[in-house]
Amino acid sequence: MFSSIKSSVIAIILLLVVSLSAGIMGFVLIEYEQLYADVVQDNLTGLSQNAAEDLLPVLTASTDTAKQKKDIQALLAPLDAYSNVVQANVYAIDTRLLHRYTGPAGHQNIMQLSANDNQSLDLRSMPEGISVKNGMMISITKIGETPFSLGYLQVIFDLQGPLTASKLSLLTQTLTTVSVATLGVMTIALLLLNRLLQPLSRLSSFTRQIESAKNYSLRFSLQGKNEVAQLGHNINSMLDTINQELEKNKSHTKTLEAQQVTMTKLANYDGLTGLPNRQFIMDTLRYKLADAKRNGEDQALMFFDLDGFKSINDSLGHEAGDHVLVEVANRVTQLMRDGDLVSRLGGDEFLIVPNGQPSIAELKEISMRLLHTIDQPIILKGVELRIGLSIGIASAIDAHYDLTDLVSNADVAMYRSKSNGRGTYTLFSSDLIEDYKRKLLITNSIVRAIEEDEFKLYYQAKINREGLLFGFEALIRWVHPTLGHISPGEFIPIAEQSGKIPTITKWVIAQVCQEMQAIQSLTERDLRISLNLSAHDLHSDELYDYVNEQMSEHHVNPYFVEFEVTESAYLESFSTSNDCLKKLGELGCSIALDDFGTGYSSLSYLTQIKIDTLKIDQQFVKEIDYSSRSRLVTSTIIDLAKSLNLTICAEGIESRIQQSYLTELGCDYYQGYLYSKPLPLHELFEKDFDFKQEFNHEILITEPLDTVYNF
Ligand code: C2E
Ligand code: CA
Ligand code: CA
Repeated sequence: MFSSIKSSVIAIILLLVVSLSAGIMGFVLIEYEQLYADVVQDNLTGLSQNAAEDLLPVLTASTDTAKQKKDIQALLAPLDAYSNVVQANVYAIDTRLLHRYTGPAGHQNIMQLSANDNQSLDLRSMPEGISVKNGMMISITKIGETPFSLGYLQVIFDLQGPLTASKLSLLTQTLTTVSVATLGVMTIALLLLNRLLQPLSRLSSFTRQIESAKNYSLRFSLQGKNEVAQLGHNINSMLDTINQELEKNKSHTKTLEAQQVTMTKLANYDGLTGLPNRQFIMDTLRYKLADAKRNGEDQALMFFDLDGFKSINDSLGHEAGDHVLVEVANRVTQLMRDGDLVSRLGGDEFLIVPNGQPSIAELKEISMRLLHTIDQPIILKGVELRIGLSIGIASAIDAHYDLTDLVSNADVAMYRSKSNGRGTYTLFSSDLIEDYKRKLLITNSIVRAIEEDEFKLYYQAKINREGLLFGFEALIRWVHPTLGHISPGEFIPIAEQSGKIPTITKWVIAQVCQEMQAIQSLTERDLRISLNLSAHDLHSDELYDYVNEQMSEHHVNPYFVEFEVTESAYLESFSTSNDCLKKLGELGCSIALDDFGTGYSSLSYLTQIKIDTLKIDQQFVKEIDYSSRSRLVTSTIIDLAKSLNLTICAEGIESRIQQSYLTELGCDYYQGYLYSKPLPLHELFEKDFDFKQEFNHEILITEPLDTVYNF
């Protein structure tokens, strides 16, 4: 009820006015009552005295009671004019009742009358003079002066009845006035109050407005200099502070939100490519696997890694590497459908979680498209970079819905793609695991193998056009304590992939330098020993320094040393390889381009590189017997080499037919089982490397070579 100051103040004023009015009324009534009683008393006294004086002669003269009674009656008759007279009793001096007169009010006060119905006056209970009893005013007056008094006149006036009626009429009259006055006072008070409280209610509605609109930029318009204005001023400055704090909070919140976004991005996305990171993809995959398991569905996973990425990074720098990664991420993302998830695990490893349940055919199709898109050259600062993908595909069912197994299976399949040659995809099958374990064992055994001296060098002879020993190619051999003989064709690519090849290369260089003197003692002529290098070897400056150091240590003439580098290794990072081989060339070593013809179709680079010899890949040599295409390639390579002033070495020669065909084309050096298999050093001394006879006798090719076509 008193929820507002206004209503409280109104209630207080109302209470005050009403109590005041009631107080005044009460006071007036009391005063009025007293005044009334006084007037009545005066009237009664006067009336009684007059009547007593009139009665004196009657009581003095008459002894005849009847006459006396009549006279008294006549004397009291004028009392009828007094409406308040209840009774008038005349008593003899002995207090005996002589006459009773009942006045106009006597009839209405029968009850009170009965109390005075006594026939004699008891002066003890009713002494002379005026007294009030039971709402009656009673006057007892002696008739005649003392001691000659002849009797008593008792006049009873009804005091209460008229008084009540009079009070009532007074009340009705004054109440209207008081009510009007109260109403007037209240109206004026209200008006004043309104005027007084108006700024306060303005302030109150202002604060309500702020509360509902939550707009803290609003300000209270100040009027005057009273307390409310001061309060308004205080509220305004409080709002200033709130507003400032709000602004601060807003910018704080913005910063926090931005930080939150950054944190989420950092936690879940790869900073370079913007793709989901390992953590994100693993969480998603875990959820998808649980889902697939529950619904009895399969979930495919594609794992891919870039071929030759490391060499780009090493040779062109991390900026170029980053560019390649971003480009690959963009191309792959564009290729995938909505719902497929592409993620970068780290380094050059990526995962794809295809949406739905693509069939094997669809997965193969996706893989083909991936290989194709990445096969397109990447242009960086005008330089064309080429990169490939190796893809591994695994299924959740094969991995029994185990996340670690699924990722590992895809990795194993990807690993197989790598060993199968670049730019391929492999679907996981359980036999790959055995293969993977073997690769892991091989990888982990390489360092120990060097320490335990498990590697050996074998030398395969190279013969010149006169059929004389020209040199040897050093080929590594490894007999593993548990796996037995492992072919370099198997462990060299593993060593390349695991980054362990430089260790092996160093061992080979040191070994060749150590054995050089022994080899040279085989003939009077100088022999040239060829060493194989991997792409990885060409990226480090260490190689040149190490070769130099070993040659000086073992007094090896660089002229006796040739380095064989495969075409693909050379081209993987062209300029770095060129720099490295140029330095080795300047040292006096020869450079041969190994396995030529298998890699890149563009031959234009041949004019830009520093090599001495082209080694025709044995695949073409083998097919000379039956493939006109291989013969065409071989003759073209030889023509090309000659036009570039390069010497030609053919390897993998197993037949005289191959040899004579190559001789005819003008091949310079010959290598193959036809002359010698790779042999350990000590066996070189037991073998005769003189093939003069074979080269001096023209071999007749009996069958026309072009009869069998195999393109
Ligand atoms: P590559 O450099 O092309 O070596 C020639 C391979 O052909 C050798 O195999 C050799 O034994 C084999 N070969 C030679 N003549 C014939 C033939 O008439 N018929 C047949 N069927 N094969 C013949 P190997 O020794 O198993 O080496 C395989 C590959 O391993 C090599 O191919 C080379 O790329 C790599 N490799 C071998 N030793 C080393 C090494 O010390 N360092 C590096 N980086 N790679 C090496
Ligand atoms: Ca070789
Ligand atoms: Ca070769």
